[in-house]
Amino acid sequence: MSKIIVLIGAPGAGKGTQARLLEERKGIPQISTGDMFREMKNADTPLAREVQSTMAEGKLISDDLTYQIVKDRTSRDDCQGTYLLDGYPRTAVQAEQLENLAKEQGKEIQAFEVDVPREELMKRLTGRRSCPVCGEIYNIYSKPPKNEGFCDFHEGTQLTHRADDYEESVSVRLETYDANTKPLLDYYQSSGRLEKINGNRELEEIYVDLENLV
Ligand code: AMP
Repeated sequence: MSKIIVLIGAPGAGKGTQARLLEERKGIPQISTGDMFREMKNADTPLAREVQSTMAEGKLISDDLTYQIVKDRTSRDDCQGTYLLDGYPRTAVQAEQLENLAKEQGKEIQAFEVDVPREELMKRLTGRRSCPVCGEIYNIYSKPPKNEGFCDFHEGTQLTHRADDYEESVSVRLETYDANTKPLLDYYQSSGRLEKINGNRELEEIYVDLENLV
């Protein structure tokens, strides 16, 4: 049976990086709600403006809107088999909505917790920069680009600092994670669908664990 792989972890735990590796190396499509909202907010509509301000504050978008975009995206052909969700579900309501979607799509859910200590998360988030063209993620502390401030793969493209990676929003995002998303770990654990991965290691070490378990 094909699966819906769910990556759960605080902001900065490295879910996005691992999800991209699984897509590149195993061909598992990765669906990131955060990326989809970031794309959406560039449009000049009332909804886009609302998404933009909610995200900048580090708060969550409504469950129903989020469900709608996940449902639409995962109904495309590339999601007929196993696919991976990065950043979804993030609330109990979303987890319930995902159960229904999994049933409709005839898939089983397998959740992974990527666990990283809080001090490390702060450093990762406030140091994070990304390329607006290819999405490559850098960190000024641990993974600096070859030329400071510029993408290694897109010469002359200046790296961006996400609005919600500034310190104040980072604190709100971590609190939101503790209050809304952490309880989902018990939910998946109690139904025997959770694997825990130590995310405080080298990227490739984490990847090997994840790949073996997927
Ligand atoms: P991320 O890149 O996963 O950290 O997501 C960035 C922002 O997008 C979050 O802080 C939320 O504002 C919004 N977002 C992403 N995924 C969700 C979700 N599952 N539910 C609600 N809001 C979300």
